[in-house]
Amino acid sequence: MKLAISLTAAFLLCFGGGALRAQTDDASKQLARDIFKQLIEINTTDSIGSTTAAAEAMAQRLRDAGFPASDAEVLGPNPRKGNLVARLRGSGARRPILLIGHLDVVEARREEWSVDPFTFLERDGYFYGRGAQDMKSADAIFVATLIRLRKENYRPDRDIILALTADEETGASNGVEWLLRNRRDLIDAEFVLNPDGGGVYTRNGKPAMISVDASEKLYADYQLEVKNPGGHSSLPVPDNAIYHLADGIARIERHQFLFELNEITRAYFRQMATIESGQVAADMKAIIKDRPDAAAIARLDADPLSHATMRTTCVATRLDAGHANNALPQTAHAIINCRILPGHTAEEVRLNLIQVMADPKIAVRYMSDAGEIAEAAPNQPSGAPVALRPEVMKPLERIAKEMWPGVPVIPTMATGASDGVFTNAAGMPTYAISGLAVDFDDVRAHGRDERLRVDSFFGGLDFYDRFLKALTSQQ
Ligand SMILES: [Zn+2]
Repeated sequence: MKLAISLTAAFLLCFGGGALRAQTDDASKQLARDIFKQLIEINTTDSIGSTTAAAEAMAQRLRDAGFPASDAEVLGPNPRKGNLVARLRGSGARRPILLIGHLDVVEARREEWSVDPFTFLERDGYFYGRGAQDMKSADAIFVATLIRLRKENYRPDRDIILALTADEETGASNGVEWLLRNRRDLIDAEFVLNPDGGGVYTRNGKPAMISVDASEKLYADYQLEVKNPGGHSSLPVPDNAIYHLADGIARIERHQFLFELNEITRAYFRQMATIESGQVAADMKAIIKDRPDAAAIARLDADPLSHATMRTTCVATRLDAGHANNALPQTAHAIINCRILPGHTAEEVRLNLIQVMADPKIAVRYMSDAGEIAEAAPNQPSGAPVALRPEVMKPLERIAKEMWPGVPVIPTMATGASDGVFTNAAGMPTYAISGLAVDFDDVRAHGRDERLRVDSFFGGLDFYDRFLKALTSQQ
């Protein structure tokens, strides 16, 4: 749809329809593309990269465009993990909004890619490079949009704050967490937009749905451990560390966590039922009733995304046991990775696992992101789903209708996790909204030959210009 609009506009420009011009002018597009290229080519991996270099480059661009140095600063806990915080000042009629984007990218090896991950490349209608999807495209759109608003002398009715940060993917210096802890004053806002999720999902380039993540699951790892005196393998006994562990894991495999919907997932299934068809649509309608239909739930459980949307999930991801081919095992370890529904705690799930395995020989301990093992897990529930505020949803729906007519806006719960976990916990409701379109089967974030369609990038640029103006002017 976006492509068709662009072609029409190009046709009119070429053949005399000069009065009609493309939504985003060529200079703004060129600037956004230049910023995108610059970001891709600054290595921001945890191993050898620097988010400071990327943050400084963006700060410089903002200052060159007239932002005072105090409104475009780089700060952070150490020289390699800098964060940019910028502010476009408004009239102050309403509290600020905060835009967040991470500057760091997942490692990428040249030999595993068909192109150089750190050289920006445009080919066959795509931009290639590490971060093309996740998420230097959105970072570039934010910087380009702030510069554009400033050049237009646009005066929002509230400050627009931009934080481009370190260590979302991995690493010990998460920028959002650091800013909240050390400089909350700089980023305090009424609500937060985070284009690290959500977006326009397309099938073969044709938009099918626009998702808004308004909730996310809680991530937790558990270590299972069985200890045993061991012995000679020629004299086996029933009490065997590997058998205890294997039986316990098999019980986890068969265990189904409770079916549970919240405000967001209920709305998700209601909307998805309108774009699905046949049995799937009927099942989605049947599970959001007051008395949900068990057979419908069971059929939807066969689909991994529906399953993960309806339940907490736990799965064995690592296994390690024994010390010799000819000895009875003295230790057996496994890692169970869980994704917990909002409102539940990691400790609650730890106790669930103990109950499900029903074997006192299996110790169940919590493993933190830093790899530290603890006897108990944190007892803080993951954030409740964020309320779908009309002041965010109404403009979103209006602009979606203009840009992608007939495509539904669907609230979603991310089954993964993002920096929204920190801003939500800090009391700043966070919406993952991106104007970028990606095919359902072309999600290459964290993968090889990461790419984004050229028209998707410029569509996202157009989207955020319209969306930010709508959010910062009285409607
Ligand atoms: Zn990301």
